[in-house]
Amino acid sequence: RAVSSDARVYVAGHRGLVGSAVWRAFQSRGFTNLIGRSHAELELTDRAAVFDFFATERPDVVVLAAAKVGGIMANSTFPVDFISQNLQVQVNVLDAALQHGVERLLFLGSTCIYPKFAEQPIREDALLTGLLEPTNDAYAIAKIAGILQVQAVRRQYGLPWISAMPTNLYGPSDNFSPTTSHVLPALIRRYEEARLSNTKSVVNWGTGTPMREFLHVDDMAAACLHLLDTYDGPQQVNVGSGKDLPIKDIATMVAEAVGYVGATEWDTSKPDGTPRKLIDVSTLLGSGWEPTIDLREGLRSTVEWFRANENALR
Ligand code: GDP
Repeated sequence: RAVSSDARVYVAGHRGLVGSAVWRAFQSRGFTNLIGRSHAELELTDRAAVFDFFATERPDVVVLAAAKVGGIMANSTFPVDFISQNLQVQVNVLDAALQHGVERLLFLGSTCIYPKFAEQPIREDALLTGLLEPTNDAYAIAKIAGILQVQAVRRQYGLPWISAMPTNLYGPSDNFSPTTSHVLPALIRRYEEARLSNTKSVVNWGTGTPMREFLHVDDMAAACLHLLDTYDGPQQVNVGSGKDLPIKDIATMVAEAVGYVGATEWDTSKPDGTPRKLIDVSTLLGSGWEPTIDLREGLRSTVEWFRANENALR
């Protein structure tokens, strides 16, 4: 049953990459009762504050897009923060949502929950069949716990809560920090700064050979609304473009998108991470949804967004 446009929808993490896109998608669909709190307004690791917030706002629908996220270096350097904060945020929001009888909830994970050497493209049922990629295992364990909690609520209380697992996302409102960001925003910033300063060579991380899949966050948001309207099952649903390419090729595309003409080198002392993590998106495609923003076009608009917002980045 489609979510009604007068439902009270709480988007946890509505300032983040995914949450802000989900918020825009609900707005453009005419939803008028959207609820959001910035990190400064509501600390989601504060259990009492989260329960008070649910008691006051009484949302009907929750999209849990609040998480501590980061690129390969942040994840491997600060694993304690990634496991502890994500577990706390999830448990608080899911427990409060259950106590207040939230009818519909979408929990968001990430494809790094799948085994490092899972058969490609990775199907949803590969979850928990092998060892994780060590550079982000702490984050992955937190997200796996979230998926299990959602499944447990379905089993024990019969509520139609669901989970979606997006591939690497990019787009407006991303984190462009050189040290903590994911690869695409890092490359956009690095190549743009090199272009502006006429630098002859940039240095990226790793070997450039790992394969990665990307999806524009507006496509992700559209998929979230589609799943909330149509999907009701215990298994997490993969959300991706179904296509991947080597980091080297992605770097070339970013250099082109920003207009950088110098050389590119690779610092192989930096981690590569998992060799490949293309996900199988047949569940989603079979449900009648497909992405609409191709990578080149998405990169171009994200570069534009970065240029317009360079002084107001989070
Ligand atoms: P992952 O997809 O979970 O491994 O995380 P990232 O998005 O951070 O990294 C993806 C890949 O991009 C890895 O193979 C990195 O080695 C590579 N990479 C190349 N340059 C950079 C960079 O400047 N920042 C990040 N985060 N990754 C980079």
